[in-house]
Amino acid sequence: MKIICIGRNYAAHIAELENEKPKDPIIFLKPDTSILLKKNPFFIPEFSNDVHHEVELLVKIKKIGKHIDRKFAHKYYDEIGLGIDFTARDLQQELKSKGHPWEKAKAFDGAAVVGAFLDKEQFDSVDDINFSLKKNGNTVQDGNSSLMLWKIDELIEYISKYFTLKIGDIIFTGTPAGVGAISPNDLLTGFIEDREMFSIKVK
Ligand code: ZN
Repeated sequence: MKIICIGRNYAAHIAELENEKPKDPIIFLKPDTSILLKKNPFFIPEFSNDVHHEVELLVKIKKIGKHIDRKFAHKYYDEIGLGIDFTARDLQQELKSKGHPWEKAKAFDGAAVVGAFLDKEQFDSVDDINFSLKKNGNTVQDGNSSLMLWKIDELIEYISKYFTLKIGDIIFTGTPAGVGAISPNDLLTGFIEDREMFSIKVK
């Protein structure tokens, strides 16, 4: 399986990092080795002093597809989840400034938290889902999928122009504002509406 991540999909997050709003979605991949094993803590890697949390809604693909029209995209997923796109921000800035790919900053081992999934039928609309991240019990990020610049079905259309989507692939749909650094002993808990979707200890 592969993980397809979307960058800069919420206007408020683009503003906080002083990035430009892209004309098209920004896409990058994480390998399956980046998935943090269930119940494991997240160890801050030795090559970064500034690892940020980015809480994101996830979409799990259930059917193989290529060149999927947005009208039919809803047939390709049943489950919505929540995860974290951990980012070594210091390393990412260095790579960006050199014009290099940023995989080392985002695709390292453990950099993808994949929490629980919920059936999409539980929601009135996938384009109106509230989610949030708490750090040590305090809410640090919250978002709603209605604020995405590209909605889930548009993302599937766009991604599948370039990559065949396969069963089990996961899309990280981008982070809302409020990204920030983590420290050893932090506890990160993620919520969709009021339901806890993951709980991660930082070491
Ligand atoms: Zn992200």
